[in-house]
Amino acid sequence: MADAKKPLGQGILKGLALTLKHFLARPIITVQYPEQTLVHSRRLRGCDLVWDPERCTACCTCAKSCPQGNIRIETRLRPDNTREAVVFEIDHGRTMFCGLCVESCPFDAIHMGKASERATYSRESLVLPKEKLTISPERQPSGYFRPQFEAELPPQTLLVYGGRASEGPAAPAAPAGPPAPAGATPPAAGAPKEKVGVK
Ligand code: SF4
Ligand code: SF4
Repeated sequence: MADAKKPLGQGILKGLALTLKHFLARPIITVQYPEQTLVHSRRLRGCDLVWDPERCTACCTCAKSCPQGNIRIETRLRPDNTREAVVFEIDHGRTMFCGLCVESCPFDAIHMGKASERATYSRESLVLPKEKLTISPERQPSGYFRPQFEAELPPQTLLVYGGRASEGPAAPAAPAGPPAPAGATPPAAGAPKEKVGVK
């Protein structure tokens, strides 16, 4: 039975006021994907593994650590008795992006990437040779397990910080350790897709 003391329609008005409040006060959280994308977490384990041939000693620790057997490495001995990887191949179609290879590398030579789109029509194209694994403007390492990268990356938009991107916590200071490899820069302003922050 309706409460005689409450004016008729009060509930509807309260609901509309709440809707209006959220409409005006909250940031817009939708974007025109795929033309626009949001900035992911700095520690993203993207659909990508990024390799740095300059740092890699071909020790094969990453390949031994992979529970999926996804990393294929063939090495050869140089005249100076060091090793180099003549084949370094990762099957991105089988990886579960667990990050164990990244965590096990003693030389910070393999990283989780920031890419989040890897749709393709053929599984073969997901097996990437070393030429396609190296760091480039399109293939950037994320801060996963590598704080020295995290400090350089822009804050994630939405969700994690529960507010405006500019209010997000500062990135942790980079600890002493191996410097970020050349080319490991935050996304450039001229990136192919527009990265959208919270307004
Ligand atoms: S992320 Fe995990 S599954 Fe993928 S290659 Fe590295 S160790 Fe293997
Ligand atoms: S990426 Fe790291 S763990 Fe893998 S072979 Fe190179 S140095 Fe060794």
